[in-house]
Amino acid sequence: MSYLNIPPHDLNDEERATYEWQIWVPEFGEEGQKKLRGASVLVSRVGGLGSVVAYELAAAGVGKLVLAHGGDIKPSDLNRQLLMTHEALGSSRVASAEKRLKELNPRLEIVSIPENINEENAAGIIEQVDLVVDCAPLFEERFQMNKECVRQRKPLIDCAMYDMEAQLTTILPGETPCLSCLYPTHPERWKREFPVFGAISGTVACLGATEAIKTIANFGETLTNKLLLCDLRSMSFRKISIAKNPECKICSNI
Ligand SMILES: [Zn+2]
Repeated sequence: MSYLNIPPHDLNDEERATYEWQIWVPEFGEEGQKKLRGASVLVSRVGGLGSVVAYELAAAGVGKLVLAHGGDIKPSDLNRQLLMTHEALGSSRVASAEKRLKELNPRLEIVSIPENINEENAAGIIEQVDLVVDCAPLFEERFQMNKECVRQRKPLIDCAMYDMEAQLTTILPGETPCLSCLYPTHPERWKREFPVFGAISGTVACLGATEAIKTIANFGETLTNKLLLCDLRSMSFRKISIAKNPECKICSNI
C-alpha cells in the first residue's frame, strides 16, 4: 500500500520520447512516469541543495514544482546554487530558478514564491503540493515545515548538510519518526553560514531527488525509519535505524 496515491496523468508522444530512458527503469516504467507527471512538489529554498533537487525533478518530469526562497542572488551563492547565474546577480533567486528550469523543461508548471517558509505561509504553501523536499539550512524553517507536513500528512524528504557531511531521511507522518523526534531541541551546531562545496550539496540533493521520485512513483526502498549519514571527506555512507519518540511534541498524538 503506498503512502501517496498520485492520480496518474496521461503522457503525450513528446513526453514519452523525452522520458524514454528513465521509463526503461525496472519497476518504474510508464506508470511511474504518469505519476511524476501528476505530482506536485515543494522545494523549500533553491540554494545549493534545492537548486539541484529542483533541476533533477524538472528533468524527471514532475508536473508541478513550487519553489520558495527569499532574497536576491549574491556572488557567494554561485559556488553551489546552480540555478543562479552570474548575469542575474542582484536579481530574485526564484525568478532565476524558474527561468533556468523552464529552459530545461518548458512543460513544467512552476509556482515561484519569493519568501522562505515561515509560520505564516507554511500551511498555504504546503497545501498546494503532494510532497515536500526540505532544503532549508535553518532549523526554524525545517521545524516549521516538519510541523506542517505532519499536520497535513504530507511526505517530507529532509536533506541536510554541513561541511563535508550530510544527512537524509524520508518522513511519512504517522508511520515514521518526524524531524522533531530526531531533534527535540534546536541543535547548537547549525547556523546560517556554513562551509560548503557545490559538489557536496549537489550530491545530497541528487539523493534527495531520488527519494522524492521513489516516494511519488512508489518503487524501490526509501529512507523511511532510516537516517543516511554521509561523510564525503572519507566517502563513507552509513544507514542507521531511527525510531519515533513517544514524547514527540509534533507527531506523538497522530
Ligand atoms: Zn515526531
